[in-house]
Amino acid sequence: MSTSRFLATSLAPLVDFVYPPRCPACGGGVAEQGGLCAGCWEGLVIPGEPSCASCQRPFGDSGPRAGAICALCLARPPRHDGIAAGTLYTDVSRQLVLAFKHGRRIALAPMLARLIAARLPAADAECLIVPVPLHRWRLWRRGFNQAALLARELQALGYGKLSVDALVRPKPTPALGGLGRKARTRALSGAIALNARRAKLVDGRDIVLVDDVLTSGATTDSCVRALKRGGAASVTIACFARVLDEARDA
Ligand SMILES: [Zn+2]
Ligand SMILES: [Zn+2]
Repeated sequence: MSTSRFLATSLAPLVDFVYPPRCPACGGGVAEQGGLCAGCWEGLVIPGEPSCASCQRPFGDSGPRAGAICALCLARPPRHDGIAAGTLYTDVSRQLVLAFKHGRRIALAPMLARLIAARLPAADAECLIVPVPLHRWRLWRRGFNQAALLARELQALGYGKLSVDALVRPKPTPALGGLGRKARTRALSGAIALNARRAKLVDGRDIVLVDDVLTSGATTDSCVRALKRGGAASVTIACFARVLDEARDA
């Protein structure tokens, strides 16, 4: 047992006394630290089948059958080799991401990672797990890279070997929300690159690229491009919450 885990276990009754366990999504009381309340579990939407064979976008019951490709992927075949999303982006997953990333509830990482892992193909110890990098200014400000924390948990669950710095972010980028596709591409140009010191590690490897939230896909697309230029055999995107307009409206 690691020291931190030992301390966490032995201090748990004390922590519960000082901070009664709260649901990290809604703040309601729960039985134990780190768990969601029943209502919030119900508010999590796990992407279902049938789904797009290329990007795993769920079609819903009325959509085409499994094996079909969604209109977006037909219009623009993606560079990635699949998207494993733990949940769709709803109020509950948004609250969890806010608590994790901006509320510094980094103890949520194992739970979020388990939800991602449930959507990944069978654990493959030979995969390389690579987080979407943060520019160092943002890393300094936040103190941690949320994607790297999730990546570390996926490694602990047996989903491959971790390389936290296979990708680097030499140039800061503005927030991409609200930008059109062309503007996003321009903002990201030259922002994400393969780390030359990790080139050998990436070449020929199946990669699991990890991020907390997948929105437009512009950032992950830059990552996939850099990894594939570096010879990656495949790149599967793994995220906790995937933004789909139909899920947000639901
Ligand atoms: Zn709750
Ligand atoms: Zn698709």
